[in-house]
This record gives sequence, C-alpha cells and structure tokens, in this order.
Amino acid sequence: MAHYLITGGAGFIGCHLSEALLNQGHHVTVIDDLSTGSIHNIEHLKNQKKFRYVIDTITNRSLLSELVDGCTAVYHLAAAVGVKLIVESPVRTIETNIRGTELVLECANKKKRPVLVASTSEVYGKSTKFPFREDGDLVMGSTSKGRWSYACSKALDEFLALAFMKEKQLPVVIVRLFNTVGPKQTGQYGMVVPNFVRQALLGHTITVYGDGKQSRCFTHVSDVVGALIKLMQKPQALGQVFNIGSQSEISINDLAKLVKSMTKSSSAISHIPYSRAYEEGFEDMPRRVPDLTKVRKMVGYRPTKNIRDILNDVIEFERTRLTV
Ligand code: UDP
Repeated sequence: MAHYLITGGAGFIGCHLSEALLNQGHHVTVIDDLSTGSIHNIEHLKNQKKFRYVIDTITNRSLLSELVDGCTAVYHLAAAVGVKLIVESPVRTIETNIRGTELVLECANKKKRPVLVASTSEVYGKSTKFPFREDGDLVMGSTSKGRWSYACSKALDEFLALAFMKEKQLPVVIVRLFNTVGPKQTGQYGMVVPNFVRQALLGHTITVYGDGKQSRCFTHVSDVVGALIKLMQKPQALGQVFNIGSQSEISINDLAKLVKSMTKSSSAISHIPYSRAYEEGFEDMPRRVPDLTKVRKMVGYRPTKNIRDILNDVIEFERTRLTV
C-alpha cells in the first residue's frame, strides 16, 4: 500500500481524493492551511487509522519537507482557486500558486517522490481552438486583468514541474482540471454550481453573469478523482500533461433554468454584468471544451455522470447543509 501526501487535502477535490485513497487501503496525510479548504470536509476521516492531517501552510518548508519524505507520492492540489478570489486577491493567488509549487517540487526532488500537479483549464485562456488539446497554444490576456494571473501562475507551475522532470529526473504528471463540481464545493469563491443551487434552495435570485450564453462542461468530482488515482499509478503518464473533464456543454442560462426546475424553486433568474460581478474589463471565456483523447488512451477515462446526476448530488448536499 502507498502513502500519499495531499496538499490542499481539506479542499473540495482533496477531501474526495483522500476518501477514495483511504477506501483503497492507502495511507493518506493531508496538509492544508484551511484558507479555502474546510476542516468539515475531512471531519469524517479523522478517526480512520491510516489518515493523518496537519493544519499548516505548504510554505512551512521544514514541515513540508518532513511530510514529503514520509510519503511515497504527492498530490499537489493546494492553490488559490475560484475566479472571485483570484480577482479580489491577486497577490495571494500568485504567491500561493508559484511559491507553493516551487517548494513542493524542491522537497519532492530530494528523494525523487513522484508528484501529480493539479493545473487548470484556465491555462488555455482565450484560445478558440476547440476542443482544447494539451499541446495547443495558451492564449493569455493582458497583465492588467487580474484573472490572467491565475492562468499564468498555473502555467508557470506546469513549466516548473516539467523542468524538474527534464533536468532533475523528478517524476511528475500534470493534470488540467475542467470545471470540477460536486458535493462539498463551496460557492464562496464564485463557483457557479454551488452558487446557483444555494440561491435556488433559498429562494434568492439566481445570478447569471454576462448574457449567460457562455458555456462550460461540468464534471463530477468522483470522475475526476478516479482519473487522478489511475494516472498516479501509471508510469507511462510521467512527464505528461492531461486534460480531465467532460465534453457535455451547457450554457449558463440553461444551467440556471435546470437548477431552478430540479429544485422546484420559485427564484427569479437575473443577469448581472461582469463589471459588477467581478471587476471592470473582466474577460470571460465564452466556451471551454477539453479534448479527452490523451487521458482516455492512458487510463481509459470516461466521465460517467451527466449534469443531472451532478446537480442531484449537489442539491442533496446543499439541502442537508442548509438544514443543519
Ligand atoms: N457564473 C455565473 N453566476 C455565478 C457564478 C459564476 O453566471 O454566480 C458564471 C461565470 O461568469 C462563468 C461560469 O458561470 O461564465 C462558470 O463560472 P465558475 O466560476 O464556476 O468557473 P470558471 O469556468 O469561470 O472558472
């Protein structure tokens, strides 16, 4: 059995990954500073013998180094995420994403512990070459627009990870996650699905940003976690970048209508300009669709849950959260 260190393990994806790895009999250690993660996410794992968690920042080098040495492989998920957070706290975004990854790679390199680095579909930026292939060009916007600092910081993480592999033979694999959603995701940092579901359940106005014609492909976190586990166990995946997501597109207008009907909500749906939702001059991506050929060939990945399955799970979770 392996021993995995998960940075950001109390976050939305990290807690689901921790649970899945524990269910397979592995040891799991989580390090999380609870900046965007939550202790509630791992509460149910605390009494498991093979689970350990440390509440601290990954920029605590000596601690991180000890934790990395003690494990067999690292999932590096700790990062500043959420468009709202990124726009409001650009310094924190850039520092967390760049310094954190640098330290994780440095520590892992000492004993050549394999590292999976979680990157994002944001790195494709304004590319219009659909579906996005891993070897496609990344098209960034101006540095005066905060959003792109997230894409750039993650792209730099990818460069750094690949450089560690090339120059120092550190085993790394990079994943670009596309709009991962499911139970336990918080809407606090702007993510659309938990926001809409909460608004609908509370009878508040459902806030569609822009004209709502922009579309996304949402993936259930359980599908993503399955791919993360398989990729880590596949030596042929090392040194490569993989998209993980789904190809089923839905416009944000249709998402709002679907959430409203599935929750039987009487909420109104209203449109809010991007300038008010985020900041003046905010640039959104009208579409974002992954090419999944690579990950399918490598680990047989196919998303199994559609948008209705996803919303069912999120609605059930948010209903419980609202009643406790
Ligand atoms: N969005 C929205 N209302 C919200 C939150 C988000 O209309 O309350 C829109 C957002 O502008 C984007 C899409 O939903 O077009 C997906 O947003 P999210 O932040 O979940 O992910 P992104 O794909 O932007 O990283």
